[in-house]
Amino acid sequence: MKLKTKIIAGTSFLFLMLVILSAVLIHNQWKVQVKLKAIISVNYARIQSARNLQEEILQLSRAERNYLLFEEPAYLNRIHERLKAIDKTIAQLGTIVSPHDELVKELIVVMANYKKSIQQMVRLNNNFWFWNRNKAKDLAKNVLRKQADKMDAILDKIIKHNQISVDRSEEEILSLLNWNRLVTYILCGLMIFFSVVGLLILWKTNRTFQILNDGIRAIKGKQFGHLSVDSAKKSEFNSVIHSFNSMSAWLKGHIHDLNQLANKDGLTGLYNHRFLQEKLDEEFRRFTRSNDLFSLVMVDIDLFKTINDTYGHKSGDVVLKHVAEVMKGNLRESDWVARYGGEEFLIFLYGADKRAAFQVIEKVRLAVERCSMLLPQHDRMVHVNISCGISSCPFDGSAKDELIQKADSALYRAKANGRNQTVLYEMGQNNTKGSTFDC
Ligand code: GH3
Ligand code: MG
Ligand code: MG
Repeated sequence: MKLKTKIIAGTSFLFLMLVILSAVLIHNQWKVQVKLKAIISVNYARIQSARNLQEEILQLSRAERNYLLFEEPAYLNRIHERLKAIDKTIAQLGTIVSPHDELVKELIVVMANYKKSIQQMVRLNNNFWFWNRNKAKDLAKNVLRKQADKMDAILDKIIKHNQISVDRSEEEILSLLNWNRLVTYILCGLMIFFSVVGLLILWKTNRTFQILNDGIRAIKGKQFGHLSVDSAKKSEFNSVIHSFNSMSAWLKGHIHDLNQLANKDGLTGLYNHRFLQEKLDEEFRRFTRSNDLFSLVMVDIDLFKTINDTYGHKSGDVVLKHVAEVMKGNLRESDWVARYGGEEFLIFLYGADKRAAFQVIEKVRLAVERCSMLLPQHDRMVHVNISCGISSCPFDGSAKDELIQKADSALYRAKANGRNQTVLYEMGQNNTKGSTFDC
């Protein structure tokens, strides 16, 4: 899997995880809200039932007082109605509150006693004897009042307890909601942060790969360039590009050294025979493109064997080096000289027709002739001469091998004519040692 794909997959996975987590969090928040609301509504229901009961007990007390005062049967009916309503409300309260709720248990006990007391009071009041009716009044005053007050106090307590839990639940809801909101914000922040960081890394990686790709393509095209780094920061991306640059510089240096070894002759430092062929192919291609004329010169050191025989092979090498330096030193920038093999050389003269080539090569030949060469092993100065054969493109041909062969045959003629001279192909018989050119 590509790194780019991996990063996209990783970021997407992270993004998906964060979305799922956020969704779970929001869902939970909603559930908590619903549950807490349900709890609060139970508390409210309890408070409401307790208040209703208080009201009904109040009404009952009034009915019972009126009944004692006016002794109307309608008030007795009202007492019975109120008692029924109270039973209903207590039953309701019982379904809302836990049956183990101590306050409700106590309320039920007091209410049962209260009912009994009312029935007793009604019985006494219905009695014929007036002292019994007085007893009923005493009962209402001393017992019923106290029992009603007690129930009222119990109901107050129930209301207070429930009010406290409503308040507490409300606080809990608020704090939970606040926490959840904070966590949601953090999750959203993280989600955005990771997405941005993921995209930045993706962009940076992609860019670094692009830069490296360009660099590798340039190296393939033998251009050992220096890749530019985005910033001066010491990031991993920059360090990869820096490493690539040092590798490119190292390769450049080594390939240059290798080229030197592959293309140059170890003794004279001139181009070797292999590279000479490549250079000539290149020059012939240039001629095909631009028709720029040129001349080829085959050069051979005269009687070089005697140098070897007289002073030894090492001294022969010294002479070869000297001759190479003199020839190179007497050529223009656009011309070049290569070691053809042994004590033979090939000179390429760019833009030179026969006349110009002859003049240049005569100058080179004279320079070699005049050069005194020190043989360190013998502490002795020697002189050597060279013979040169020239062929020109396009006058003598426009194929590589043909021109080399013609330059070689001109050289052969120079040797045959007595050496130390320059001979033009086909004009060889007109040129003698040190002669001037004559077309
Ligand atoms: P001519 O004028 O006819 O060219 O005579 P010559 O003696 O130069 O020619 P010949 O072909 O007889 O001898 C060339 C000699 O050059 C023979 C060979 O040993 C010597 N030679 C070739 N390459 C080297 C080299 O790298 N170093 C040394 N010291 N001698 C070399
Ligand atoms: Mg030779
Ligand atoms: Mg020779």
